[in-house]
Amino acid sequence: MDSQMKTIYESVIARDPNQPEFHQAVEEVLDSLGPVIDAHPEFLPVVESMVEAERIIQFRVPWYDDSGNLQVNRGFRIQMNSAIGPYKGGLRFHPTVNQSILKFLAFEQVFKNSLTGLPMGGGKGGSDFNPKGKSDPEVMRFCQSFMMELWRHIGADLDVPAGDIGVGGREIGYLFGMYKKLANEFTGVLTGKGRSYGGSLIRPEATGYGLVYFAREMLATKGRSFEGATVAISGSGNVAQFACEKVLDLGGIPVTMSDSGGWIHDPSGIDREKLAWIMDLKNNRRGRISEYAKNFDGVSYSKSEPEPALNGLWDTDVDVALPCATQNEINGEEAKMLVKNGAIAVAEGANMPCTPEAVEVFLDNGILFAPGKASNAGGVATSGLEMSQNSLRLSWTREEVDQRLESIMVEIHKSASETAAKYGMPGNYVAGANIAGFLKVAEAMTAQGMI
Ligand code: NDP
Repeated sequence: MDSQMKTIYESVIARDPNQPEFHQAVEEVLDSLGPVIDAHPEFLPVVESMVEAERIIQFRVPWYDDSGNLQVNRGFRIQMNSAIGPYKGGLRFHPTVNQSILKFLAFEQVFKNSLTGLPMGGGKGGSDFNPKGKSDPEVMRFCQSFMMELWRHIGADLDVPAGDIGVGGREIGYLFGMYKKLANEFTGVLTGKGRSYGGSLIRPEATGYGLVYFAREMLATKGRSFEGATVAISGSGNVAQFACEKVLDLGGIPVTMSDSGGWIHDPSGIDREKLAWIMDLKNNRRGRISEYAKNFDGVSYSKSEPEPALNGLWDTDVDVALPCATQNEINGEEAKMLVKNGAIAVAEGANMPCTPEAVEVFLDNGILFAPGKASNAGGVATSGLEMSQNSLRLSWTREEVDQRLESIMVEIHKSASETAAKYGMPGNYVAGANIAGFLKVAEAMTAQGMI
């Protein structure tokens, strides 16, 4: 890392020594910015400013469970950067949620949103609430209590949250209903809404579809495609399900999926019928992926311990890997397994699923590697399209939204690869995405007087 960047990185650690995930996300970006600051020394103060959130909100979320006992969770919203538009980024409900994880996600979101070309700043929020095993009324009471505080800090032109881990259509519905009641207005304050109340077609599919569009572009640079390629996917939530669907559309063969309990390997391929079964299992029955192995022949199931490392999943003989579960799920050793097994491309569907050691292994071995802030930007881009439709009071067709999503992903690929080449690192999508995302925000912050 360049010495000026190192000084900034050390001050980030000194300020918040107990935030390892945030340090990791900052380190990855600062690692790329040396050549930009050499070319634009006037942007150094921007970097110093960007690593500090504009505003952090933390609040108490009390709610009553079905037995009448009071439960108390912690809620957060990190408003990281509003230089190019209202804060925008998802809400995560997971027991591991803390300020470090949300700051890492909010920081990444700033660059990602900039890359989409749409006017969106970066934010992230959530709670250490665990929706797993809770009844619908419990989830509803929690969401209502969460929104009772959050509503005063968000707005269609201020901060527009969306879903993330543990926050899907059900939660967004309950959150939106409470916002509408408190604010006494119907606006596009959340994205990922249901179709009947302002949601966009393709938003549920967008992150997974966009990921595969990006990976397709990347493979094409080596004259390869998804046709006949075997694909390892981790996770079985929103991103993983629709990544799997788009891989099938493009003629690929998905062979793995996982949840926090373990992973399945289906050598004959997860076809459309099996994927529909997984969607029903996860979205309606809220069951475990282990049930897949009991339901279909020739499938192996392995438990993964310790969370979230998925162990053997990445020791599978595949051409493409799409990690779509959570942060730090592929470490250096697992990356070496993918190299050994002849993988040609890895594209991040989740945020920061590959550790810095894993990324180094991929880059050193000439594996095409797409960082999440580029390859999973389709979700937030389509949220941006949902905001536009809400403002216009219009609803675009499925084909219209999908075409816009596809062209945004093609543009992000182009911008990341051209920027990497311009700064002397051809093929390095990590550097390309960080630099391209940074430049737009840096220009806007400078123009606005660094406030
Ligand atoms: P979901 O909650 O729908 O699915 C998450 C999946 O990952 C589930 O299969 C879950 O298993 C698994 N998982 C979660 N935590 C862990 C863990 N600690 N160890 C192992 N497996 C785990 O979330 P999404 O699909 O929405 O999000 C997945 C990733 O994609 C996240 O990193 C998110 O930030 C990122 N992302 C999501 C976007 C979106 O539009 N939804 C946009 C951009 C990025 P289980 O059910 O057992 O918990």
